Amino acid sequence: MTNDAMKIPQATAKRLPLYYRFLLNLHSSGKQRVSSAELSEAVKVDSATIRRDFSYFGALGKKGYGYNVNYLLTFFRKTLDQDELTKVALIGVGNLGTAFLNYNFSKNNNTKIEIAFDVAPDKVGTKIGDVAVYHMDDLDKVVVEEGIQVAILTVPSAVAQPITDRLVQANIKGILNFTPARLNVPPSIRIHHIDLAVELQSLIYFLKHYPTDTETT
Ligand code: ATP
Repeated sequence: MTNDAMKIPQATAKRLPLYYRFLLNLHSSGKQRVSSAELSEAVKVDSATIRRDFSYFGALGKKGYGYNVNYLLTFFRKTLDQDELTKVALIGVGNLGTAFLNYNFSKNNNTKIEIAFDVAPDKVGTKIGDVAVYHMDDLDKVVVEEGIQVAILTVPSAVAQPITDRLVQANIKGILNFTPARLNVPPSIRIHHIDLAVELQSLIYFLKHYPTDTETT
């Protein structure tokens, strides 16, 4: 990210990819401007938050005009480093890992899983999607040689910390952790945790205890 982007609050920065994806769709359908109300409806973020977020990057929407889609896209591309491909590795080609490899992410932006790692003999040496699966013995070497910056962890939780330690040694910058393990990393490494079981449980809890008001009308 650029230095300017460093001043954006973290909560705003987390919403950037969401805005970016929607604006790309608008752009490809030929739209040149968008109102905060339209954006709000599409990305499900309230329009006051959108206006505040956008004011951080100097996009001041005009009343009755909205925001210029091209201006926003140029800003997002620069800020999210979309022009520069970030190399991603996936570790653990189980059910979840395989699903990610088949899905891949390149449809929406410049993020792509380049390479995968596992220890299972029936997986190492195969290709899933168009991604080759390497043995964990090669992890350190390949991550450094290929300049991999981000790792997605879909391994059993028991092995998540030792693998993380190796990734840190290999100079990885960020980890997307899908295991339930809470991982220790030095402050220079950014780690995001996505525990699908916790997310599901939390959704169900909210449904039970904070019902939405759609049925009260
Ligand atoms: P599967 O049905 O293929 O076993 P799963 O998602 O149910 O998938 P998990 O036990 O969660 O299985 O393991 C996920 C993947 O992580 C598997 O492909 C497994 O071979 C791999 N794995 C296990 N230990 C390691 C390790 N130390 N390093 C890298 N990958 C590992």
